[in-house]
Amino acid sequence: MNPKRVAIATGNRHKLGEIRAFLDGIPWIISGLGDHPEVEAPEEDGNTFASNAFLKARYYSQRLGMPCVADDSGISVDALGGAPGVLSARYAGPGCTDDDNNAKLLAALAHVPEESRGARFVCCAAYVDADGREHLETGTVEGRIAHAVHGGNGFGYDPLFIPEGHVHTFGELDPAVKAGMSHRSRAFRKIRAYLESIE
Ligand code: IMP
Repeated sequence: MNPKRVAIATGNRHKLGEIRAFLDGIPWIISGLGDHPEVEAPEEDGNTFASNAFLKARYYSQRLGMPCVADDSGISVDALGGAPGVLSARYAGPGCTDDDNNAKLLAALAHVPEESRGARFVCCAAYVDADGREHLETGTVEGRIAHAVHGGNGFGYDPLFIPEGHVHTFGELDPAVKAGMSHRSRAFRKIRAYLESIE
């Protein structure tokens, strides 16, 4: 039997590396979008992580002609009513960097006390194929926003996010610790079980 193929719809190499590790050993050939530079990205204009994940998975599955898993993720901060949420990547505006986003988040929380700095990372991962299968998994990790950036590991908001039960940020913690508990690992471990269940 030919091995099954699945495309992971992310252009972010940090995320692709993490996701490949979560799916390591499954009997599927995994490709990333770097293998398909000819396909332009769709606009991620959904209001929720789930709608953006499905939007991307349906689009790339159709354009690439193969099963596709797409994720949408971000950080939701309690004191900001859940913002930046689906706008996490471009919180500080078009073309902004991770540093810009972290500076904007710190400024927005400048007067917010320790006990009100709760936040969570959320990852929705959607599977779509040409046989009409559609499946969604969600992973979250609770924590709080630090008062300054700490650590150089990871990406995005990692230097500001202190996961529950820890005193250091994801930026400071060993990447293996993050991989064991992150929103993306929780969503993709469930996607892994789903892929293994497909005949
Ligand atoms: P996406 O690529 O559309 O899912 O956007 C995700 C954005 O959320 C990223 O650009 C980061 O700003 C943030 N984000 C998602 N996951 C993580 C993470 O594991 N660590 C830090 N920031 C993250």
